Amino acid sequence: MQGVGFRPFVYQLARSLKLGGWVRNTSEGVIIEAEGEPERVEEFLRLLREKAPPVAEITALAAQDVAPTGERDFAILSSNADELPEPVIPADIATCVDCEREVSDSADRRFHYPFTNCTNCGPRFTIIRGIPYDRLHTTMSVFRMCPDCQREYDDPANRRFHAQPNACPRCGPRVELDGRPAGREPAEPTARAGRLLREGRIIAVKGLGGFHLACDARSAAAVRELRRRKGRSEKPFALMVRDLAEAQRICFINDQERKLLESPQRPIVLLRARSGNGIAPEVAPENLYLGLMLPYTPLHRLLFDAAPPVLVMTSGNLAEEPICHTNEGAAAKLSGIADHFLTHNRDIHLPCDDSVARVVAGRPMLIRRSRGYVPRSIALPGAAPPVLAVGGEERNTFCMLIGDRAVLSQHMGDLDNVETLDYFERSIEHLGNLFRWRPRVIAYDLHPEYLSTKHALAASRSQPLRSTSARTDCELIGVQHHHAHAASVMADAGVEGPVLAASLDGAGYGVDGAMWGGEFLVASFTGFERMAHLAYVPMPGGAAAVRRPGRMALAHLVRAYGDEGERLALELMPHLDPREAKAAALQAARGLNSPMTSSMGRLFDAVSALLGTCEETTYTGQPAVELEMAAAEGGFQAYPVTIDTSARPWQIDPAPVIRAVVDDLRAGVERAEIAARFHHTVAALIAEVCELMARETGLSRVALGGGVFQNAYLLELLLEILPRRGLAPLIHSQAPPNDGGLALGQAVIAAAIEEQRCA
Ligand code: ZN
Ligand code: ZN
Ligand code: FE
Repeated sequence: MQGVGFRPFVYQLARSLKLGGWVRNTSEGVIIEAEGEPERVEEFLRLLREKAPPVAEITALAAQDVAPTGERDFAILSSNADELPEPVIPADIATCVDCEREVSDSADRRFHYPFTNCTNCGPRFTIIRGIPYDRLHTTMSVFRMCPDCQREYDDPANRRFHAQPNACPRCGPRVELDGRPAGREPAEPTARAGRLLREGRIIAVKGLGGFHLACDARSAAAVRELRRRKGRSEKPFALMVRDLAEAQRICFINDQERKLLESPQRPIVLLRARSGNGIAPEVAPENLYLGLMLPYTPLHRLLFDAAPPVLVMTSGNLAEEPICHTNEGAAAKLSGIADHFLTHNRDIHLPCDDSVARVVAGRPMLIRRSRGYVPRSIALPGAAPPVLAVGGEERNTFCMLIGDRAVLSQHMGDLDNVETLDYFERSIEHLGNLFRWRPRVIAYDLHPEYLSTKHALAASRSQPLRSTSARTDCELIGVQHHHAHAASVMADAGVEGPVLAASLDGAGYGVDGAMWGGEFLVASFTGFERMAHLAYVPMPGGAAAVRRPGRMALAHLVRAYGDEGERLALELMPHLDPREAKAAALQAARGLNSPMTSSMGRLFDAVSALLGTCEETTYTGQPAVELEMAAAEGGFQAYPVTIDTSARPWQIDPAPVIRAVVDDLRAGVERAEIAARFHHTVAALIAEVCELMARETGLSRVALGGGVFQNAYLLELLLEILPRRGLAPLIHSQAPPNDGGLALGQAVIAAAIEEQRCA
């Protein structure tokens, strides 16, 4: 099993059934001996599964009979530290219902206490400084438990038995507003902060994994001011809502979405917004979805006693830097943004951003796997060598293979500045120490300019990088980006290759030096063959073509229409500056700063720009996100696609698609319908290519990986179409399909290659 809080649960269950025996942690897992009346033992076995705490995940349960020894008492036996295969490092857990009840009970000694927690909930990963996981090695070590707390902590029958962050108003951390601590009433600063939020102020709130910037989500003025101060133009802000009823008032929420919202991980869930919900449009401009989360600490819950029922809760950071997590750091960095600071004196040792998820085809899909999920491991089919995979550049995470498990790190952000790189290196070192683990192999992306790649290569040249300085003899394995996406899906789904794969994203370094992104592969863990890809088009101006999707539209128009393309671009996209169009056309024609790309993400960009949906990319994937939202529901015809199979790799020509979009635009077809037709076209294209590959190889499983598959419209279509063609789609469930899941793929590939070498 994984997680904590299991032994006290077993103890209490056994006692309630009047069973004798013991429970103990061993290297094999948890062993329980229970003795008593047979029906009670039966009952015990049943309840063990049914009533286990939500965060104690039982992976397997086996029972066998042993001779009775006449035991009457039940005991928790201490575990021998040497016996444990590796330390259990639990994830942070949202406040449980029992703690919530205490916080709102005026007769309870924890009434209004913002740091209430127990064995079933509270901070974990973010407060652990070292191992073993006990209070001494957390940031709670500076708080000495009062006699009442100590009694709870020592009593195996208590819900707070060995709850390391246990605290109360008498002995625990305190919250303060602008340096003024709470007096007799522990929630007084949160109440004051709540009232300030109601008045339209912006407040930096120290939470579980770092600081948020909060303001009233219903106030256009407050949200606009937050955007201005933060320098963030259009990227949607996440919201925290008072409770489920409030969430339901703002968004449409189905059963799975409700479960996800209320889960102990409490991610931000992307939900379809209701119209007239009172949320300022500035929260998520042009967006039909809102990212909602429920309060996950008592501090957040208390804030809502006085605050407006919906708050913007966006990461407290500057631009792309990591989230602020110390009081001093926040004061230094956020003073130009926040009017007030709601802080506390429980240190956050390792910052951890909120997770983001959505429900696709009735199943949760992680967009960002971070708080609540990390460092929970993903099971591998067998033991692997110790591999560190350093991930990609955008939405970076890294991955460590420890025995038969993969530990994926928290969200690092975009590795393109020195602060994030520092956070990345510090996190590698910290997690390695926590798991008493050092890598023997380092896997990295082939892109020479990724900072993660540079980190890996520098480590091999034995430059004194903190995290790997002790290991200058690490084996280095470069992994192609889209191969890693495919392998990530395989590892996530617990499938060994070979499989067919559609690895579709914005960009990844190809083995020919081009920017790949529309890749169809036959993949196993040890290798891949590129069977087909979208035909290359130039990206006029490189990064400028990502920022200005009109440039990609122009490149596609020129490819489809030749010299006519530039004129058409100006006719169809009034937002395009003629001088920019001319310059871009020239760059593309002469190959000046115009890398060739087979990117599916860039094709979405081009169509999004053609439809006038998105003119400027202010966050990754924006044109595709807006195109998905523009698409009308219903069954639509796909546009024609040609696949040239005369030579390997097969070429998928996007020109007929572009011409069909242009024809529709000229015929005055509704943009929502064109957007829908385009999605159906991409789905049909993927199915078509996969069917051809299946015929060629005899394989039928298709791994769907890469950022394009965050698109629920497309993915739901494929989950329908592929099985009808005898193909079995494999999709992510534990790791994100975007580059946040890349490191998992890199890790399992490097492990397989290393094992092959050693065999
Ligand atoms: Zn609790
Ligand atoms: Zn206490
Ligand atoms: Fe990618």
